[in-house]
Amino acid sequence: TCLLSVFAFANMVQAQAYSSVTNIDKRVDSVLKLMTLTEKVGQMNQYNGFWEITGPVPKEGNAKMKYEHLKMGLVGAVLNVQGSVNVRKLQEIVVKESRLGIPLMFGFDVIHGHKTLSPIPLAEAASWDLKAIEKSARVAAIEASALGINWTFAPMVDIARDARWGRVMEGAGEDVYLGSKIGAARVKGFQGDDLAANNTIVACAKHFAGYAFAEGGRDYNTVDVGTSTLYNVIFPPFQATVDAGVRTFMNSFNVLNGIPATANKFLQRDILKDKWKFNGFVVSDWGSGGEMIDHGYAKDLKQVAELAANAGSDMDMESYAYVGHLQKLVEEGKVSMAVIDDAVKRILRVKFELGLFDDPYKYCSAEREKTMVFNAENQAAALDMAKKSIVLLKNDNNLLPLSKTQKNIAVIGALANDKNSPLGSWRIGSDDNTAISVVEGLKQYTSNFTYAKGADVVIGKTSFIEELNINEKDTSGFAEAIALAKKSSVVVMVLGEHGFQSGEGRSRSKLDLPGVQQQLLEAVYKVNKNIVLVLMNGRPLAITWADEHLPAIVEAWQLGTQTGNAVAQVLFGDYNPSGKLPMTFPRSVGQEPLYYSHYSTGRPGPKDLVFWSHYMDESYKPLYPFGYGLSYAKFAYSNLAVNDADKANIKVSVTITNTSKVAGEEVAQLYIHDKFASVVRPVKELKGFEKLMLKAGESKTITFTLTNKELGFYNNDGVFLVEPGEFEVMVGTNCSEGLSSSFVL
Ligand code: BGC
Repeated sequence: TCLLSVFAFANMVQAQAYSSVTNIDKRVDSVLKLMTLTEKVGQMNQYNGFWEITGPVPKEGNAKMKYEHLKMGLVGAVLNVQGSVNVRKLQEIVVKESRLGIPLMFGFDVIHGHKTLSPIPLAEAASWDLKAIEKSARVAAIEASALGINWTFAPMVDIARDARWGRVMEGAGEDVYLGSKIGAARVKGFQGDDLAANNTIVACAKHFAGYAFAEGGRDYNTVDVGTSTLYNVIFPPFQATVDAGVRTFMNSFNVLNGIPATANKFLQRDILKDKWKFNGFVVSDWGSGGEMIDHGYAKDLKQVAELAANAGSDMDMESYAYVGHLQKLVEEGKVSMAVIDDAVKRILRVKFELGLFDDPYKYCSAEREKTMVFNAENQAAALDMAKKSIVLLKNDNNLLPLSKTQKNIAVIGALANDKNSPLGSWRIGSDDNTAISVVEGLKQYTSNFTYAKGADVVIGKTSFIEELNINEKDTSGFAEAIALAKKSSVVVMVLGEHGFQSGEGRSRSKLDLPGVQQQLLEAVYKVNKNIVLVLMNGRPLAITWADEHLPAIVEAWQLGTQTGNAVAQVLFGDYNPSGKLPMTFPRSVGQEPLYYSHYSTGRPGPKDLVFWSHYMDESYKPLYPFGYGLSYAKFAYSNLAVNDADKANIKVSVTITNTSKVAGEEVAQLYIHDKFASVVRPVKELKGFEKLMLKAGESKTITFTLTNKELGFYNNDGVFLVEPGEFEVMVGTNCSEGLSSSFVL
């Protein structure tokens, strides 16, 4: 066996004494015993290392200090460093030059792929395909680990119900049940079966908690959620990741009931560590400690350190609060040694699990970096995921799929020829302009098309960091596009958002097609109504005009590296779309937040014409409901049967028939409504789904089992209750179409 402790490579005198210890907790204790308080605090400190290591000292503000700190054992982890050579350089400094040689963790935002980009997470969620989503995370881990990374800040499991919030692109959408399953699948994909393998990485459930509930969708803003929402909507996906074995959590920028999440003992200690028995560690969000000063909760960084450490925030990302003040706080008795030891043990445990003490350079292989990144296998996985993420929103008179011999196709819209926007936001590890554009994808099918840009989406250069200028007003390309549309048999218009119009800090007050794209769409429609709209976007859009006028609409989100191939396969029918919306699409932005699993009101419907819960100037219905999505096949539901004889296993079965002439996949969805409860329950809640392939004419009967887990809920003290009573159940093709029945628990 290998040498089993830190001493294998550290410059230690006691080395031999511990080398035979096998159990991780014992190994953690053996290291902890050797550490000074300064070194313990060092493990709780994470620095950004967005630097190029060209000389002995990295170039960057504070870089010199950070470099010295590495040697002093004052850094537990870094983020944003990648590449086997760069990672090895930093690891060597710590391993060879610091007293104990405790290896670093290398964190990175591997959100949807690393170099090979898969669809944005919201798009992947539209596949409702947990195996594919797990695989996608697995591929991301293989690439990231080949580049030296061993920790991703993903998955984001914030349930998001306001499409204005830019970070909806980063999660699984609005639903608790779907979001929990997907969160767990992503954790399994990143972490694999064995964290000690060299191609698995530590996952991080974020942002704990409440971050997505920023009022008005304004990122970083006020969060004011009730207890019932906290326990029943916000917490469950996080708990699902703990159950799936996630090893780290990230807290969040927001304040929850007056206490910033970073200093929130209720969240980090009472719920996460005590109730859920999480024994990994919590990292702060970037500078979220320091932001407590702006929140008006801590007066300086010293108080930040005291409050955050005592509340269970184990590692400080980029606030400099711990490294600057924790030691003094312990000496003053304001933070106990027990708090420090608990945090450090958690961090060391994860490092042992990763196998870093046995081989700190296990992620630094030039060979793997060369062969495992952006290879054909990863491209194939990305293409598979991209196809599965597409949602067919409308297809009147079977306009789609297009025939491969179709003549005179017009392709219009700047996004059609864009190799960057389809990559979406949150892809700092990858290279720009690496997507296969829609135009490139179409070329493999036909040369019978002509492209005209028509209009840009946004003006000027855009990057992750720069502010976008979304005020595009230039209509000079309209004439060419209109002339082309006029002489074409069908027009494929690729419109939507720029790739950086969603993501962190990218909230929008409008949910329209930005710039002059709506104007372009209407102008083209005047000369040719045969339009297939392909949408590219990082959030639900209120495309009501398009829905009312156009025959065909395809939701293509931002599908990553393989975008053009996936879109072309769907447009020409080589892949039959099977995705379903993971978020409600509103008719207008004023309806937001709009989600299916709301509570009933005392005045739910138009019974009394004026005084019921509605808008005077807009329908109360969404444009497309949660779970909605079409196929080139048609499906019929029949024979809904409920058997509630065994209250612990209520069986709901239904037959689904493909009534069309083509094979296709359907996602059958089961929703319940607990009619009367001691805490009111939503009008509908997803509690089961199954994606099934049906050949033309084929029928299948599927059975769902509802247990206490699906039928219970949390009361306002966080106690899980299962209350007897009547439930409605619906099984169908989306949250508002299906067969209904009821049962008694
Ligand atoms: C984001 C996190 C991210 C972190 C590190 C923060 O701004 O909120 O989600 O993981 O930066 O890049």
